[in-house]
Amino acid sequence: MIDSHCHLEMPDFDGDLSAVLERMGKNGITHAVSIGSLAKNDRIERTFKILSNNGNIWTTLGVHPKSPYKSFNDIERLFKKYYAEHKERIIAVGETGLDYFPDSLGDIEKKAQKELFKFQIELALLHKLPLIIHIRDAYKDALEVLRSYAGSSGGFYGGVIHCFSAEEFKTAQDFIDLGFFISFSGNITYKKNSYLRQIAKDIPDEKILIETDSPYLAPQKFRGKRNEPSYVRFVAEVIAAQKDVDLEQFKELTVENTVNLFGVTDVAGFFPAVAYKIGAGVYVNLTNRCTNECGFCPKYWDGKNNYNVKGYNLELKKEPDFEEVISSVFRYYNFKEVVFCGLGEPTLRLDTLKKTAIHLKNKGIRVRLDTDGLANAVYGRNVVKELGEYIDSVSVSLNAHNSSYYNEICKPRLKKGLDPYSSVLDFIDESRKSIKDVVVTAVGLEGLDVEAVRKVALEKGVRFKLRQYNDIG
Ligand code: SF4
Repeated sequence: MIDSHCHLEMPDFDGDLSAVLERMGKNGITHAVSIGSLAKNDRIERTFKILSNNGNIWTTLGVHPKSPYKSFNDIERLFKKYYAEHKERIIAVGETGLDYFPDSLGDIEKKAQKELFKFQIELALLHKLPLIIHIRDAYKDALEVLRSYAGSSGGFYGGVIHCFSAEEFKTAQDFIDLGFFISFSGNITYKKNSYLRQIAKDIPDEKILIETDSPYLAPQKFRGKRNEPSYVRFVAEVIAAQKDVDLEQFKELTVENTVNLFGVTDVAGFFPAVAYKIGAGVYVNLTNRCTNECGFCPKYWDGKNNYNVKGYNLELKKEPDFEEVISSVFRYYNFKEVVFCGLGEPTLRLDTLKKTAIHLKNKGIRVRLDTDGLANAVYGRNVVKELGEYIDSVSVSLNAHNSSYYNEICKPRLKKGLDPYSSVLDFIDESRKSIKDVVVTAVGLEGLDVEAVRKVALEKGVRFKLRQYNDIG
């Protein structure tokens, strides 16, 4: 397990931190995220001292909404200094957010908190880091602030609503719709908090993280005492029981979720950005390489090099091999199909694609491929015939009704002398012969002649699907 949120630098751990960390290891908690506070120099310095002695602790940089700070300039200066010195160990911006407790909090303070929150969201976007968000009695306003960024930025680099405590599932769903994970803390174990357990039950497994928020919020068994990372197991036990899933599987999935959110590579056996779940499908990201440079691809939007897909950062640290793909896929346990998709062209990893898909088919799992349809041109042979042996369904991005529009939108990078658009059309013809279900897609850009592309698909005898611009995955 990973404790995704704790405060190890707090004075509560003075004197016995090494024993706390030892108990963490003994109870199967391999790593922890100890939140880094920029509000006080001595606290952040203490955090980095802990990190220098313990390779399994990561940290973050941020200012809690209730913490005092000098100025935005000062926060930025400290952020830059520590990020330059410890980049490898800093995995998020936060905790930031809104805290309207107590009720008597005035409008001026609320406004100031919002400004501080926005400032840190911008830091996260600038440094391509996920956000760790604290919200108390302010879910509506926090959602409003986050929505104002989601619309314009092309998506966050992931994030988590830590110690989720809102009263309705709908609130959690609103954050999940923005790509955020939901993290539960020790208060989910409290007898009176059955509403939280019900919410956790309904949250998609792939969107849950677990944390202690220690030294605060010790679980029921230790209520009123100091909390510590080893107690995260009680949070896992309560949620797994509520969801009626195997505890060990659930623990592993929360590690997969944490690794995927923070993009960390130092958890043995876990590989960020390789598999991610959307709805009933597990999606596999074999490569970030492409045959095209589509103008509508987040990788090329405004030159931002953005790899965000529905809250997952799909920038691969390395292309995964067969074993890494399989172990990542089977961390999920309630899926109906596996889709080779990702932010790259899966057929550029043909051998791994084939080996993985055959393995899945042998287990009776439905396999889908999302492709640009240029594999035959790339390999100079009819690859589709081979694909038909292990792919149940293929979705081919056509995006155009003629060659010139295709070249303008998809910017193919094939050898000279080949006509990419004709290659895609041939790929569709061959797919019809070998693969049961063939779908042709187009992204609904301004300038797309939807009816003309639909006509091409229908003439080829396959289904057509119009995809929304900005809706990836
Ligand atoms: S084929 Fe997909 S991943 Fe590649 S550039 Fe186009 S949209 Fe992006």
